[in-house]
Amino acid sequence: TPIEVVSFCQEIAESLGSILKEQYEFSFITNTRNCIAYLDEQLAWHLLNNLLSNAVKYSPQGSVISLILTCDENTVCFQIKDQGIGIPLEFQEKLFEPFQRANNVAKIPGTGLGLAIVKRCVDLHQGTISVESIPGQGTNFVVTLPLRTITSMNEDK
Ligand code: ATP
Ligand code: MG
Repeated sequence: TPIEVVSFCQEIAESLGSILKEQYEFSFITNTRNCIAYLDEQLAWHLLNNLLSNAVKYSPQGSVISLILTCDENTVCFQIKDQGIGIPLEFQEKLFEPFQRANNVAKIPGTGLGLAIVKRCVDLHQGTISVESIPGQGTNFVVTLPLRTITSMNEDK
C-alpha cells in the first residue's frame, strides 16, 4: 500500500516517544516533506522499530540518536545513527543471523532476533541494508528500499 514516509517516521518516533525525547537527544532529519512509497506497512514498522529500539538499547542515555530520511526519484533511504557501544568488526558478518549477539552486549538482555527480522523485511521489499560501526563510538544502519517494487506495481492494477 502507498505510505507517506515522512509522517510514518514521525509516528514511529512518536510511538517510542518518551524514551527518545526524554532520555536521548533524538532528531528526525528529512530531505522532503512528502514521500509516497509502496511499502508493506507492518513490515516497514517492524524494520524501523527494531533499528530504533537497538539504537536506544545499545547507547548511553543522553546520547544522540538520529533518524535520517532521504527520498529520491526511485528509492527511500533510512539511516538510523547512534553513539552507542558499536559492533565489533568480527561480529558484523553474523549480524543478521538469528540468535547471534556480539560479546560486548553480554550484560544487556536480548534474543538476537531483531536484526534477522529487519533483514527479512528489507529482502521482502527488494531493498538493501548495510552497517557502519566503530566499537565505542557508534553505529549507522543504512536501509534503502525501492519506492515501488515489481510486485507492488502488479498489485496496483
Ligand atoms: P532482540 O531480539 O531483543 O532484538 P538483540 O537486540 O540482541 O535482541 P538484534 O536486534 O538482532 O538482537 O541485534 C543482534 C546483535 O547486534 C545485538 O545483540 C548486538 O550485539 C548487535 N547490535 C545491533 N544493533 C546494535 C547497535 N545499534 N549498537 C550496537 N550493537 C548492536
Ligand atoms: Mg534488538
